[in-house]
Amino acid sequence: MSDYIVKIIPTDFTYSVTKEQANRILKFLRSKVNADNIQALIHATPTFVDSGSSLETISCPHCGEQLDFNWWGKAMDAASKDNFKELSINMPCCGKESTLNDLHYDLLCGFACIEFDILNPSTDFDNDTLSNIEDLIGRPIHMVHAHI
Ligand SMILES: [Zn+2]
Repeated sequence: MSDYIVKIIPTDFTYSVTKEQANRILKFLRSKVNADNIQALIHATPTFVDSGSSLETISCPHCGEQLDFNWWGKAMDAASKDNFKELSINMPCCGKESTLNDLHYDLLCGFACIEFDILNPSTDFDNDTLSNIEDLIGRPIHMVHAHI
């Protein structure tokens, strides 16, 4: 049987929380959500949090043009040399500025310094729980749904 992981990340990829904050958020999550495991991963530098399955399309947030995976791979390689601290890019399609964090990935993924991974949750996340998590984290959040 495959595993399903809900990864909660702040939309601001440079943002992180303290260990104490992370523990408070974990305690909250564990009181609200039934799951096989809930853990916090704190990364020293922004890390690409993916959805496990392969991406099918990546498109430009400005003009909607589908992007070439070779271009994306090269942009990711270049950004990785600086530990993903700098994600700004010039779009090859329309020449506008964006970041690797703002591209439209067909399966939502993103960069983050902090992630909360919830393994095989058997509880739905209601809006109250989600807004409480945003309050505790202190930033708007994304949820990455990973099937591995
Ligand atoms: Zn574009």
